[in-house]
Amino acid sequence: MKIKVVRNIFEANNRIAEENRGFFEKAGVKVVNLMSAPGAGKTTLLEKTISSLRSKMKIGVIEGDIQTSLDAERIDRAGATAVQVNTEGACHLDANMVATALAEIDLASLDLLIIENVGNLVCPAEFNVGEHAKAMILSLAEGDDKPAKYPLMFKTSQVLLINKMDLQPYVSCDAERIERDAKALNPNMRIFRMSCQTGEGLEQWCQWLETLVRG
Ligand code: MG
Ligand code: ZN
Repeated sequence: MKIKVVRNIFEANNRIAEENRGFFEKAGVKVVNLMSAPGAGKTTLLEKTISSLRSKMKIGVIEGDIQTSLDAERIDRAGATAVQVNTEGACHLDANMVATALAEIDLASLDLLIIENVGNLVCPAEFNVGEHAKAMILSLAEGDDKPAKYPLMFKTSQVLLINKMDLQPYVSCDAERIERDAKALNPNMRIFRMSCQTGEGLEQWCQWLETLVRG
């Protein structure tokens, strides 16, 4: 019985995700679902991404947070359209929450929409929201055992950004191990080593986004 209830939740979510996808296709906007644990650097990455790409494309952001609009305010200051979704306690965004946020966005005016999910390495990976690609960030400060402990996130993401590479002298985290374990789970995964402090890797990530938008 319990199993059936869970299946129904995912089926209902996928139906709404398909509707969202239809809106994205109609508007000609590409959509990335950006996921990570809290504090891995999602919002900072978006600030840097917006400032590198804003002359080339129009970017919008949906900010998912349990509470506050702090991140949406940062994105707004960075120069992109931002809509905040407060999940009121829920630890992930689902397709319906994204659908609600879409009512606030002029999709046709955008080339790229990035959905910053709630900081969490578990259930955001379970809920499709209609995105074209999932991308995830793992920062060196979190440790190199994360692919082994949270495999679904690594299996479902097309891109892994290993962030905060500038911390390497201070932490024992092994970026090679992260790459190896992530590739074992998801052989096609694109992996970029990044630092939003030094700018390392930002260009490759932005190129990946440009390719997605052009494709
Ligand atoms: Mg954030
Ligand atoms: Zn959740």
